[in-house]
Amino acid sequence: METPDKTYTETLEALQRSGNLRNLPQAGHRDKWMIRNGTDMLNLSSNDYLGLASDLSLRDEFMKGLSERDFLLSASSSRLLTGNFPVHGELEKMLACLFGRDGALVFSSGYHLNTGILPAVADAHTLILADKLVHASLIDGIRLSAAKCIRYRHQDYTQLQTLLEKHHHDFSRIIIVTESIFSMDGDMAPLALLAELKKTYPNVMLYVDEAHAVGVRGQKGLGIAEEQGCLKDIDFLCGTFGKALASVGAYVVCSQTIREYLVNRMRTLIFTTALPPFNTAWTKFVLSRLSTWSERRDRLARHSLHVRQAIQDSGKSCPSSSHIIPVVIGESRDTILKAEDMQRKGFYVLPVRPPTVPEGTSRLRISLTAALTAEETDRLCTALATL
Ligand SMILES: *Cc1c(COP(=O)(O)O)cnc(C)c1O
Repeated sequence: METPDKTYTETLEALQRSGNLRNLPQAGHRDKWMIRNGTDMLNLSSNDYLGLASDLSLRDEFMKGLSERDFLLSASSSRLLTGNFPVHGELEKMLACLFGRDGALVFSSGYHLNTGILPAVADAHTLILADKLVHASLIDGIRLSAAKCIRYRHQDYTQLQTLLEKHHHDFSRIIIVTESIFSMDGDMAPLALLAELKKTYPNVMLYVDEAHAVGVRGQKGLGIAEEQGCLKDIDFLCGTFGKALASVGAYVVCSQTIREYLVNRMRTLIFTTALPPFNTAWTKFVLSRLSTWSERRDRLARHSLHVRQAIQDSGKSCPSSSHIIPVVIGESRDTILKAEDMQRKGFYVLPVRPPTVPEGTSRLRISLTAALTAEETDRLCTALATL
């Protein structure tokens, strides 16, 4: 007799055959190392870009200064009920001040952020123009919204301009949605140009996800918008605390009106438990020191340049202009073998396969960290050259 889960089994078997079956990796952690079967591998797959999450002295310093008030491991309720603690508001004030904007709002995660804002602000009279390669959380946010959406070819701003020209009369508002550093190719959007483009029309807004850039780029670590001098021109300037900032949660900086609107309309803010005060206090602690970590940012930039150069020297193309560096292999099974090879050599690199990336572009995805030494980066380059 057929069981209700027959099609699940068939799907899993098909994934297995095509080399696309996923599982939860089992490995131990010790600061920048991953440990499996007693072997140490440098972790080149985490998002701890500045090495802050593995910095134990930083954690000790935080713990020493932590107040009784913030030593709470649960908010026990939504922000809109009894889960709103002073530390949440303080973090938002700090963000608004750092970014030089009127408003900021924090969320449980980048996934909550991206699946919540667009459905709240985009109605049936809105057109969303999104880069073809935006993150899954943004795609889900678009799907949950009532807006019409057109995806433009990755980083094709001529096409974007044509779409704006063609449609700006037909909608009450258009929202351009992009990442600043793209998660899979590590390439970078020209935010200053996008800001100029949106200003050509009175009804166009700009939504930018800086998940991979905040902490890492800009003099003060505020991201690509800071680097390109357009912090004030982005209507929804978003980022996560879970990557370089070594914490959990996410933020948008925006106008006070948008902030208030989100508090009233955003379902992934309203119907979920607020971030624990403890984690929020840690985020505040990290943010208050962000501008002092230029040396880490510079080191990461040097490592990145070096590794990208080594990949190009070995005859492979490399779209990246950041610390996220893909080595495109093509076929999934091949990619798995190459990842295993890198792991045997002491580098914890993971294969990224469809549906995360387009069919036929399976890749090793290297994400570098400032915690690496120059010598470790040299060894990595050597291993990549003989891949
Ligand atoms: C990681 C990521 C997110 C999700 O952030 P979390 O805080 O981990 O939920 C959102 N957008 C992009 C571009 C990301 O890379």
